[in-house]
Parts: sequence; C-alpha cells; structure tokens
Amino acid sequence: MTHQWTCPFCNNHQVVTDANFQSSFRKFHIGKSTKGETGLAYTATRCVNPDCNEVALSAQYVRSRSTNNGWVPEQTIEAWQLRPGSSSKPQPDYIPAALREDYFEACAIRSASPKASATLARRCLQGMIRDFCGIAKGRLIDEIKELNKRLDDGSAPRGVEPETIEAIDAVRDIGNIGAHMEKDINLIIDVEPGEAQALIELIEMLFEEWYVARHKREQRLAAVKTIAAEKKAAIATGRAQIAKAVAATPDDEGDVIEG
Ligand SMILES: [Zn+2]
Repeated sequence: MTHQWTCPFCNNHQVVTDANFQSSFRKFHIGKSTKGETGLAYTATRCVNPDCNEVALSAQYVRSRSTNNGWVPEQTIEAWQLRPGSSSKPQPDYIPAALREDYFEACAIRSASPKASATLARRCLQGMIRDFCGIAKGRLIDEIKELNKRLDDGSAPRGVEPETIEAIDAVRDIGNIGAHMEKDINLIIDVEPGEAQALIELIEMLFEEWYVARHKREQRLAAVKTIAAEKKAAIATGRAQIAKAVAATPDDEGDVIEG
C-alpha cells in the first residue's frame, strides 16, 4: 500500500511504501471505559530523502471494535504528533533569529494555547514588516497603511505584493490581545487553533516570498558577478599571454614583419 506524504522535517513530497512506513494497533485489556473498548495506534514514517532520513511518529487513542480477526481500530478519540514535536517547517538562518524563534514557538504551542500562539505569530508578522520593509509605526494597522502607500508610490521592497498586504490586513485582528485588553479588561477574545494556523501559514508564505526570494536573487546576482569577474580575468590573462608571445618572437620573423 502506498500514500502521498510530505516530510515534516524537510518538506520533501514523496510516495510512502511499506518499506518506509509502519502502523500498529494494540487493544487495551483494561475493561470497558466511557469511550468503550479502546486501544493505542501508532504510525512511523521514515523520510526517503537521503539528506534527511528522519522518522516521523504519531500516536492515536482509538475506540476499537471486535471482528472475526480480533480487535481493530474504529474511531480516533485523540491524536498526537510525537515527532517532530511541532508543525513548524525548517527555516533558513538568513531569516533573523528573533523572527524564526517567534515562528517556531507559535507552531509549538498552536494546539495547546492558540491565543498565545496567535500573539506570537502576530509579533512575528509585525517584526517582519519592520525588518524587511523598514516600517515601524507601533500599530500594525498603521504599518499596513504605510506599506500600502509605499506600494502605490513604488518604494515598497521587491516581493511585497498587493495581495500580501490584503492577507496581512485580513488576519490583523487575530492575536491582538494587548490592544483589546486595554479597552476592556473583561473582554476575552478567543482564538481558535485554525485562526492561529492561518497566521502561521501567512508567516510561512512571507518567509518564502520575502526572505527566501530575496536571498535567491542575491545568490543569482553573485553568481553572475563571479562569472563576469572570471571572464574579465581570463581575457586579461589571454592578453598578457599574447603580449608575452609577441615579445618572445624570434628576431628574423620580426624582421619579416618589419620588412
Ligand atoms: Zn525528510
């Protein structure tokens, strides 16, 4: 049996086969619980990317059902991603460490504390606008306005698209606990795990569209410059060799040229 899978360690898309995937189920013989007859299921998947080769682990607490072939899993009651411990994707170290840390932490606590996760994600988003776009206004709404203005007059950094700003504006209020608490201390703004996830995905998109794209452009430019420099050096060497060859030409031939 095969299935499609994206490795959470390296993001590599691949087809999983029996050679690198295993799932097991063990029924608990501890009596019938409020959830009925239950047991533990787990899956282990090894990444086939040789540069990664990590193992992802997950476990499920499941209701089980008796069949002619014994007990089988029927319905998942609770599930845990055991390894990696977080849904965060690896990020390159040319993205500022403070932004990466906020992102990793936002991912790690997303399910347990979506409100704290969204607050961190929002701080990361604002940090990105400050670092990448050079805009620091105190309030995210004012920074979005400034970014829109710069986009209109053509002074926004490359990679900043109108759609990106719209997306930031759409999720602006999620995780904005501080601002709400100042207005009404008793007002509790709930954040669903899905909302925290929306912020996290926006951050991942901006890491890609802003930092990774800029880094790739810089690398391509550096490669072109290296090629140009090598070409220039080769031409200079070639000219020097010709000059040397002319200087070393025997006199009689030189006389012929002169005559
Ligand atoms: Zn992998």
